[in-house]
Amino acid sequence: MPDEQASSGRPLPALSQLNRPYWTSGAEGVWRLQQCPECERIIHPPALRCQFDHATPEWVPMSGRGTVESWTVNHHPFFPGIPTPYVIAFVNPVEDPRARVLTNLIDVAPEDVVVGMPVRVTFERGDDGTEGDTVHLPLFTPER
Ligand SMILES: [Zn+2]
Repeated sequence: MPDEQASSGRPLPALSQLNRPYWTSGAEGVWRLQQCPECERIIHPPALRCQFDHATPEWVPMSGRGTVESWTVNHHPFFPGIPTPYVIAFVNPVEDPRARVLTNLIDVAPEDVVVGMPVRVTFERGDDGTEGDTVHLPLFTPER
């Protein structure tokens, strides 16, 4: 099971029926993304239909491993609870590198981030979201 980080001042998502599994499955220590049962593509952000064949996606567990496709370093203090600088990144899950997840990299110095860097999911527990669900933000750390 991945480590769980303490809550920070990171803003939390508004949960919906469509995105709830993405934001809450970290409670089980599992990173889940949608997969198309027809073409087997990993689909993210969550969608009602696969954009390629219109099949209904299913939530499936990922290994939690991925690679950094691209990143940027934010220096502006948009949110008081998040110390700057911090890294905003696109991560590709190893199960389907065509998929792209927008996230933060933590426990890494911005100057150490490189394209293709292996990363692993970790979850930061947030406060209770809508309808009593607890948000577990999927964040990524360098794979060691
Ligand atoms: Zn499909």
